[in-house]
Amino acid sequence: LFDALADQAALAIERIQLVADVDKAKLAAETDKLRTALLTSLSHDLKTPLSAVLGSASTLKDFGANLTDHSRDELLTTVIEESERLNRFIVNLLDMTRIGSGAMEPNFALHYVGDIVGTALKRAQKITADHKLKVAIPSEMPMIRSDPVLLEQALFNLIDNAAKYAPEGTTIEVLGWSDAKYVTLAVLDEGPGIPDADLERVFDTFYRVRKIDHVKAGTGLGLSISRGFIEAMGGRLTAGNRPAGEGAIFTIRMPIPAQLQIDGDMR
Ligand code: ADP
Repeated sequence: LFDALADQAALAIERIQLVADVDKAKLAAETDKLRTALLTSLSHDLKTPLSAVLGSASTLKDFGANLTDHSRDELLTTVIEESERLNRFIVNLLDMTRIGSGAMEPNFALHYVGDIVGTALKRAQKITADHKLKVAIPSEMPMIRSDPVLLEQALFNLIDNAAKYAPEGTTIEVLGWSDAKYVTLAVLDEGPGIPDADLERVFDTFYRVRKIDHVKAGTGLGLSISRGFIEAMGGRLTAGNRPAGEGAIFTIRMPIPAQLQIDGDMR
């Protein structure tokens, strides 16, 4: 009996091994596919702005003397804007690497969210110039413990997306509220919204929803970085849609430190 059991056990182990090998092979193939997709996307995102910089700079060098002031100015603007885009992209990649390796160490401080909303909106002034803005942050909100720089960057990314994906002239709302345990910030827009199946995937690195017109090309990094920042500070960042396809809602929820929690609803 013992021998028979041992044989059966050996057989079972062999089978498990086989399944594991197949899974390993599958995983390796998937990883390879993912790596290729990442590299393709990365090369494209680096190459596009760099080509624009090279093209404009070469034209300036070769024909600058014969160009009108206006044309020269346009070429220089391209050089500056595309270099800024490259710079932002590289900063994003560095942030991704830090989050991925767990090296993201927030500089925690106690602060009111109202302050960071003000800074983020100020920084987004140019980007949101063609939209209407509605901001409602109650002054009576408890303090939270977060890294103001990271929180501001995450909120900025959400406002930036709202301005990028919702048509000009529509309203972007930045709302804040609190309950006994959490302070919540929400960015609502009147754009295309996000297909239900993509509500989680938009946070994946390099993921972009296909059906959206990507003329104002982004990199697919903003939301995964933002979620990385918020989670590194103990908060949550989620995506949703307004009812009846009226646009997207992104919500940042930060815990109120236990010693600052007040019983009852502060809404
Ligand atoms: P990027 O905007 O650079 O492409 P993000 O990580 O910020 O990258 O966003 C990922 C994708 O999520 C976007 O490409 C877009 O398809 C979708 N998305 C983000 N914000 C919104 C929004 N406010 N409305 C509709 N779709 C959005």
